[in-house]
Formats: sequence, structure tokens, C-alpha cells
Amino acid sequence: MPAGRADVPTDPLVVLEGVNKHFGALHVLKDIGLTVHRGEVVVVIGPSGSGKSTLCRAINRLETIDSGTIAIDGQPLPEEGKALAQLRADVGMVFQSFNLFAHKTVLQNVTLGPVKARGVKKAEAEANAMKLLERVGVANQAHKLPAQLSGGQQQRVAIARALAMQPKVMLFDEPTSALDPEMINEVLDVMISLAREGMTMIVVTHEMGFARKAAHRVVFMDGGQVVEEAEPETFFTTPRSDRAKDFLSKIL
Ligand code: ADP
Ligand code: MG
Repeated sequence: MPAGRADVPTDPLVVLEGVNKHFGALHVLKDIGLTVHRGEVVVVIGPSGSGKSTLCRAINRLETIDSGTIAIDGQPLPEEGKALAQLRADVGMVFQSFNLFAHKTVLQNVTLGPVKARGVKKAEAEANAMKLLERVGVANQAHKLPAQLSGGQQQRVAIARALAMQPKVMLFDEPTSALDPEMINEVLDVMISLAREGMTMIVVTHEMGFARKAAHRVVFMDGGQVVEEAEPETFFTTPRSDRAKDFLSKIL
């Protein structure tokens, strides 16, 4: 277990069963079964095109699935409407490209969701946003526009924005791949502290250091399938499948 993680989480929060997804003739998710427990940190790793982003997008219902079920905290993903909006709010998402609103200040980026979708009063949303910006180390940038910030700072704002909705689970899709090397750690450090505080996280990343420090489990995907699952140390030192061995030999 990673430092500061005494218990193995056992309470299912995100449950995928028999999930299939096609893009035309391309079978992108093949019978995916995956359970992520409350407080668990799962790193998803695998070659480009293996379906990692599609998996994240399906969990957030940015993509529909063809068959199978996805449930968050016991609730199956709704098709549309208010229930879907509520469920989306339970799932925080951080993308590779920071996706901040370019014409809003950092503070507005963080308050917009709670005010519009959660009905939080502006003053309360702002006070909460400042705490979150403090927590990710960018409170002194609150009144700037995203373009005035470095990539690492923007990504930390994106994390604060997602946290402002008080999500039950946070999805990260390659959150550091678009960053200059010197900014990667400032984002990973925020993610590691979130993990230590018990946030449930699904993180697509090839950052081995993060997996080793923060993840309970590594899920290896290839060709739309979950090929292998193991604790980080086991996966990185003694992968079982040839596909995982081959992949690791290329990235290590
Ligand atoms: P990863 O994130 O592991 O690189 P993706 O989930 O992005 O993989 O993509 C899996 C496969 O699905 C790839 O072959 C990709 O080209 C294809 N794909 C992804 N999104 C779409 C789309 N909107 N339309 C058609 N094909 C797509
Ligand atoms: Mg991807």
C-alpha cells in the first residue's frame, strides 16, 4: 500500500459491467468490467488507442455505450435530463488540455459550476473557490485570465474547478502530458495530496512515480480490453502478460 494508505478500500463507488463501445466498425471498449472503490486510486495505463480516454468519457457520460452498465454510487448512468446533470456533477474530470474558460478569470472558472449547477450563492462559491485555489497553490492568480498562467498553474486551476463541484470521484485523463517537464511535478503533487486525503480517483497516466506513490491499483488496457490489474509495484516489476511486458519495455 502507498504511504498513508492503511486500508484497502472495499466500498464500490464506480462499477462497470460488460461495457462495450464501438465507433463504427471499431470495437473500442470490449466487455469492460471494472470496480473502483470509495477512496481508491486506480491508475489506467496502456498504449495510445487502447480506449483509455473513451473509458473516462463513458464514465462521465460524454460518450454513450452500446451495451453493459455503468453505475456511480449505486445509480446507473441516466440517459439525459436533470439526473444526468446531477451525475455529471458527481464526477469531476480533468483533461490533458486544461479546457478552462478563456474569457473568465481563474476565480470565475472555479465559481461558475457551483453557482450555475449547484445553486450555491456567489459569495459562498467565491469563498470556497479561494480555499481550493489556496490548496492547489494558485490563490495569488485568482483574478488573472487563464492565458496569463503557466500550463502547470492552469491545470491546477482545472483541478480546483472540478473539486468545487464536490465530486464523488475524480477522473484525470493524461493530466500532465501537455505540460513542460518542469511543471509536471507541481500538478502530480496536488494529485498525490488529493489521493492521501482519500479522494476516489481514476487516473490515466504513464507517470510511474505517481502510480507508485498514490495508486492502490494499476489497470493495464490494450486493444479495448482490461488485460491486467495489479498493485503498482507488482505490475511494474513483474507484469504477467506479454502485452504489458512489451508496453513497459517501451516506456520505462
Ligand atoms: P486512448 O485514450 O487509449 O489513446 P481512445 O479512447 O482515445 O484511446 O481511442 C480508442 C480508439 O477509438 C482509437 O482507435 C481512436 O482512434 C478511436 N476513437 C476515439 N474517439 C473516436 C471518435 N469520436 N470517433 C471515431 N473513433 C474514435
Ligand atoms: Mg487518450
